[in-house]
Amino acid sequence: MSGFNETQKEILRLKAEKNALILAHFYQPIEVQDVADHVCDSFEMAKRARDADQNIVVICGVVFMAESAKILNPGKKILLPVTDAGCPMADMVKPEDVVKLRKEYPDAAVVCYVNSSAAVKAVSDICCTSSSALRIVKSLPEKKIIFIPDKNLGAYVAKKVPEKKFILFNGFCPTHNRISESDILKAKAAHPESVFAAHPECREEVLKHADFIGSTAEILDFARKTPSETIIIGTEMGVAERLKRELPNKKIYTVAASFVCPNMKKTGLGELLNCLKTEKTEIKLSPEEIAAAKASLDRMVSI
Ligand code: SF4
Repeated sequence: MSGFNETQKEILRLKAEKNALILAHFYQPIEVQDVADHVCDSFEMAKRARDADQNIVVICGVVFMAESAKILNPGKKILLPVTDAGCPMADMVKPEDVVKLRKEYPDAAVVCYVNSSAAVKAVSDICCTSSSALRIVKSLPEKKIIFIPDKNLGAYVAKKVPEKKFILFNGFCPTHNRISESDILKAKAAHPESVFAAHPECREEVLKHADFIGSTAEILDFARKTPSETIIIGTEMGVAERLKRELPNKKIYTVAASFVCPNMKKTGLGELLNCLKTEKTEIKLSPEEIAAAKASLDRMVSI
């Protein structure tokens, strides 16, 4: 356990003692990522939670990720270190919004970004992540798609599938949506030799300057493989921090200094340790809630 501080050592000891699996999202603080069994994007996190055979799964992320883990593996104790670590984008859409849209467009399929509540998943046809959205939309027979809640991801997918009509919900990730065209132009002017990799939760005015667009896992992969020595990262700074450590010979920059998701940073080592000690921050969903939301998540994972 060399290289770990005392809190990290205690987390790892408790993790082994309690037979727990720790899954951390790439946007988590780097010291939390360091004690995780796997650091993943939301799609890999959902699959690993579904397949976990440990007694406890700790989700270092936000509420919808822990809910997805519970829905996919309901018999498991799912812990979320900070129970009010929500996702503002997920909170922008309510089930009644979806029901209303369904009435307006009865022949459309509802594709729900996984960044949404269990209740919204329950009234959707299929979930998607940023890495699977395009594949999932293309796989559907419906010619009309109601895409919720992220208008930026929806617009990005819609451009790639011009044969389908998209009805976009007006939701967005405040962290990615805040980045402007002038931010990326400034970053490019400061590092003219760079390539720019962006997350599709960014606005179109930002994405049009990207050399690569993909999910967090895909951005990491792009950064590892590109021959370019200088990369501007257009997603939450946890990804850039990870890359700086992993690729010390490359120059890694974030598109803006303020590229931080405050909710993802609510989980620190203290919260994680406390959660493992007390097991009090368990995510609970009723069997009815689980059953209602499961179909759309299962469909996503199976495609
Ligand atoms: S980065 Fe955006 S989408 Fe992800 S958890 Fe934070 S607010 Fe939600």
